Parts: sequence; structure tokens; C-alpha cells
Amino acid sequence: MSQNIENLARANVRALTPYQSARRLGGNGDVWLNANEYPVPVTFNLTQQTLNRYPECQPKMVIERYAAYADVPAERVLVSRGADEGIELLMRAFCEPGQDAILFCPPTYGMYSVSAETFGVAFRTVPATADWQLDLPAIAQNLADVKLVYLCSPNNPTGNLINPNDIRQLLEMTRGKALVVADEAYIDFCPSATLAGWIDDYPHLVILRTLSKAFALAGLRCGFTLAHPQVIQLLLKVIAPYPLSTPVADIAAQALSPEGIALMRQHVETLNATRRKLTDGLRQCHCVEAVFESEANYLIARFTDAPHVFKTLWDQGIILRDQNKQPGLAGCLRISIGTPNECEQVIAALKSLSGAPESRKQA
Ligand SMILES: *Cc1c(COP(=O)(O)O)cnc(C)c1O
Repeated sequence: MSQNIENLARANVRALTPYQSARRLGGNGDVWLNANEYPVPVTFNLTQQTLNRYPECQPKMVIERYAAYADVPAERVLVSRGADEGIELLMRAFCEPGQDAILFCPPTYGMYSVSAETFGVAFRTVPATADWQLDLPAIAQNLADVKLVYLCSPNNPTGNLINPNDIRQLLEMTRGKALVVADEAYIDFCPSATLAGWIDDYPHLVILRTLSKAFALAGLRCGFTLAHPQVIQLLLKVIAPYPLSTPVADIAAQALSPEGIALMRQHVETLNATRRKLTDGLRQCHCVEAVFESEANYLIARFTDAPHVFKTLWDQGIILRDQNKQPGLAGCLRISIGTPNECEQVIAALKSLSGAPESRKQA
């Protein structure tokens, strides 16, 4: 019986490996540094008690406040169930399954391929260059049938910004053929790098944002798409009628109030300072081969023996993210920036383990 049910499913769904979210990967930790979450909760009070009524599809206050924060007109803003829903809506609106393709440049965020596989949309990958930038000649050769090019800046998991001049060339190359989707999930940590002001010049540029990272609201599930009004109108055709529950819209509006934004900016300042300290600390650990500069609330480091480091810290309840299998990231682990104390625990654990490979050889 269960065999028959399996056979009824779409072939691409049967073949699908779901996204390995930090929550799915499990672990038994007290120091969670594997999902780029803000390390402590921010509290809110619910002010909307009208749960007998359906919510607004695009809650006006949330849209207006995010537009003001992002410095774009409200008609260029769409709100959705996290940036992850924005990734999907674009495919639903622009990609014909079995015909059109998306393109992205690994190592990068895992949901672009998972969403494409779910919808039966082909994906083409053009590996990033050695310094994690766009390989423009290779992209140019792979654009046939591509409707969406996803890029991530700052890139998850490497933490670097994509060179804006390269993005401009990509936008010139794709004009009239494909949309360029810039995933700015971490832009609040380096706000001057945003491309939001480019939409006037490039109506095929789409920007994804979220409240999950700098706004400390991963559990809220609220994200934004910034784009030309024509793109927004197409996305509104395929979005669910009530994508945000009333409590989500209520809390999002509070997070986007002047006080909410001021608090977020304070958090960003602290996290950026903690990241610099963690970078310095890691550079003093013998088991660390390289620490890469990051603009976001995580960083990536290469270790002499990454599986051993990952397992030893895991057993101590310090949960990092293994990036070893991503192209170009052999030996690399990603560490989210936690509280200063959590980052000190990481350094202490790494320092006490530095001699471990030697002693294991003797054993
Ligand atoms: C976390 C993350 C997202 C998802 O954001 P949600 O709003 O939580 O769905 C999208 N893109 C990147 C690069 C991310 O790291």
C-alpha cells in the first residue's frame, strides 16, 4: 500500500532531497550557531485580536513601513512567508516547468535548487570563481532558456559581497531575457551595499529581503520582495490569498517601527563587533587554516581536520554548520555569530582541541 502511494507522487518529488535545514539536521546543543539566527529572542505583544477575520493579503502598515525602511515606493514591495516564499513565487510566475531554467553560482544558498526541483524547473549551476565572484563568461554561455538568475550578496555561506560592477554586467547581459534575483537576506549587516536603488535602471532586477536574520525574527516567517511594479503584480497573481497570519503582520509592523529598526541597528553593531572578535580569535587557533572576511552574521573558516572539529564541538553541545560538501569549500565550517559568550566558548573549545590530531595519531 505505502509502495503504491509512493508511485502516485510526481517523479521529481520522489527524487527530491528536501532542504537540510538546521532544524532537520537535529543536534543536542546549547550553543546553536548553525542557522544564522539572532542568538536571543526579542519580545512582542500581540495588539490585533481580530482572529475571527481573514487577514489582509498585503498588510498596508507592513508594506508601508518596509518601503520606508528600504527607501523604495510601496508599489515595489511584496510581503511573503519568508524570503523562501519569494524564491518560489518567482519560479511560479516566470518558469514554465520542463521548459525554462534557473541559474545560480555555488557555493550558495540551498533553497534555489530545492524550489526548482519541487516545481520541475531545471537548474543550471555556474560555479563561482576561486574568490567567490561571478564567472561572467561562463554565465553568458549558459543563459539559454534561463528565466531567473539567483545571486546572493552577501553570499551564504561564504559571507562576501558580489562585485557590483559584475552585477551590472550581468544585468546588461540579461536585459529582456531573464530576471536577476539578488538575495539580500543579510544586507542589514552591510546596508550600504544594497542594490535596491538600481530597480529604476534595471526593471528586471528583483531583490529578496527577510526579517529572519538582522531583525531576529526567524520564527515569524516574514520576508519581502522588492521589484518593479510589473513584477510585483505578476507575483500577486500566484501568491496565496492570505500569505501572512494576523499575528505575523502585527509583529512585523512592530519590528518595522522606528523603535524596532533602532533596536535592529543596535543588534547589528554588536554582532559585527563580535564577528571581528571571533575572526581574531579563530586566527589564533592551530586547527584553523584560514578565516574568511564576512559582511554578515556568520563566517566561514577552513580547518585542518573539519570533520573532527565539527564532531568534537557537536559532542560538547556547540552546533556549527558543515560546508565540507559544497563546491570549493572542502574543510570549511560555517559559524553563526552568537553572543560574545557563545563565541568565546567556540574559541575555548577549539583551543583545547588544537593538539587533538597529533594525539589521535598516537592512539
Ligand atoms: C535565511 C535565508 C533566506 C530565507 O529567509 P526566510 O525569510 O527565513 O525564508 C533566504 N536566503 C538566504 C541567503 C538566507 O540565508
